[in-house]
Amino acid sequence: MLATVPSTAAATSTVARLLQTSYANDTGRVADAAIRAGLMWRCACSAINAALATDACPECGKKRPWASDLTPTYCDAKLLEDLRHALADYFDDRPYLQRPAAVSFRTTHYDDGRAWYSGQARLHYTDKRQGELYTEGFDRTFVADALVELSEDDEPQDGAVLRVVVPAWGSTPELGDPARNLHPAPHPLVGEYAYSVCDYAREAAQVLGEGWGSESGYIGAYGLIWGPGVPTLRLWVDHDDDLVLQLKDDYDPEQHIVPLPDGAPSDAYQLRAVAEDIARLARTYLP
Ligand SMILES: [Zn+2]
Repeated sequence: MLATVPSTAAATSTVARLLQTSYANDTGRVADAAIRAGLMWRCACSAINAALATDACPECGKKRPWASDLTPTYCDAKLLEDLRHALADYFDDRPYLQRPAAVSFRTTHYDDGRAWYSGQARLHYTDKRQGELYTEGFDRTFVADALVELSEDDEPQDGAVLRVVVPAWGSTPELGDPARNLHPAPHPLVGEYAYSVCDYAREAAQVLGEGWGSESGYIGAYGLIWGPGVPTLRLWVDHDDDLVLQLKDDYDPEQHIVPLPDGAPSDAYQLRAVAEDIARLARTYLP
């Protein structure tokens, strides 16, 4: 038993050294073991790659698949890390299973609402485009506990998918490790701003809950928020740089300014806070 968990970089160089010193007819087996352990990855083009931190296969140039998380817009970063570590530990304890690059979960219905389903999952490997169903599931493991925590923090929507990168070791991933690519990450699409007004609309629709949705307006200049049996709301920025919420179809629309006391949101938590304000206004304002 190792006293400390080795770093991914140390593991990678150890594997490289093992390969270097193996007899020619052993290198295949060493590489296979390293791939099973998640210390190297095999591309769909069959090239074997040692650098876990690189994003693309040097052989075919394709992006390494399953190297980033996929989460709902809001997902608590700490709870997500708890899930990631539970997954890493799960596969650490089961060396007979090939370590997946990522695991994805779907939702299910319980008496008290929707939740991430631990009874079944999909395992993703770097050399396959499609995930493989893992019918064994994660019931009664720390993975299931972490999923419960995430579900209680924010009930997932029907049909939502949660895909989590599994690090090579159960340790905190190092800088440059794909496991650090956490979502929700702001996307650099709108210059110095992390989110566009359409992102605010989408997040607000999530806060408003079941039956609510959003749409991006013409070239992203505004966001539309629609809900069950209510007029569509438009979210846009006026000439004074105020964020405005108004009824889209009203010929003499009342305009409601959404306060942005700390400026434009630059991370998922700030985005959520603005979305909650929008949702609050929408509920008061709608007939
Ligand atoms: Zn390749």
